[in-house]
Amino acid sequence: MARVIAVTNQKGGVGKTTTCVNLAASLAATKRRVLLVDMDPQGNATMGSGVDKNALDLSGYDLLTKRASAAEVIFLAEASGFDILPANGDLTAAEVELMNEIGREHRLRLALNTVRDNYEYILIDCPPSLSLLTVNALSAADSVLIPMQCEYYALEGLAALMNTVEQIQETVNPELQVEGILRTMYDPRNSLTLDVSAQLSEYFDDKVYRAVIPRNVRLAEAPSYGMPALKYDRASKGAVAYLALAGEMVRRHGSKKTSAPVAV
Ligand code: ADP
Ligand code: MG
Repeated sequence: MARVIAVTNQKGGVGKTTTCVNLAASLAATKRRVLLVDMDPQGNATMGSGVDKNALDLSGYDLLTKRASAAEVIFLAEASGFDILPANGDLTAAEVELMNEIGREHRLRLALNTVRDNYEYILIDCPPSLSLLTVNALSAADSVLIPMQCEYYALEGLAALMNTVEQIQETVNPELQVEGILRTMYDPRNSLTLDVSAQLSEYFDDKVYRAVIPRNVRLAEAPSYGMPALKYDRASKGAVAYLALAGEMVRRHGSKKTSAPVAV
């Protein structure tokens, strides 16, 4: 049964979507069955996976409002090699429609339960706010993966995020764990990066992934071609870094499956 990981951080622009698309592609390249769920009305994860958000028959909106089942909404993102539950601006309408519904925080969880057995990993891309969409993602998740930039206010933001995780544990999902913290747009030549990084390790110990994601222009370019960096430029530092992250994640879960060769 899939491990469900919400990729979240209330801060925008920290690499949530980039991490979702590229981690999904890297896990898929090591022969894991992966589903990427886009829970951001901006639909960036959808577009970045090579799926046109403006041409969707069904989307997360139909799922959350019970107009369609998970099996009906999910399909293979061919350019990327993993399954996608896509989204677009309609998700905002779902939030409004659910406002007075009982159990509105659990819609995504109940829907994903019907397809969990089909995957080893389900990644959920969250919007940069604590909206009902994020709460749905955190209710559905086993754990949160937190991408962050090692900059001055990062630790403050992280404290706020830990607070959110605690609140979710007290209310909608007592089982929610912290999967790990991922340092993104990492620049070891910057002394502030190293300072913040050291503090992170002090507070969060082995929750901090050893794999770091460097600032890499290929990661920024790939979405405009509608593909993960692994497909766009498999030798790029960004693609290689996300493969390393996938490897570390799989090892941490002590997956019995021996790593298959990377098929790109
Ligand atoms: P979020 O989903 O947290 O808002 P994104 O993944 O969309 O963040 O990233 C914000 C911007 O930074 C995007 O333009 C993305 O292409 C770029 N970006 C993300 N990670 C990297 C990286 N490691 N190197 C270079 N650019 C990056
Ligand atoms: Mg995003």
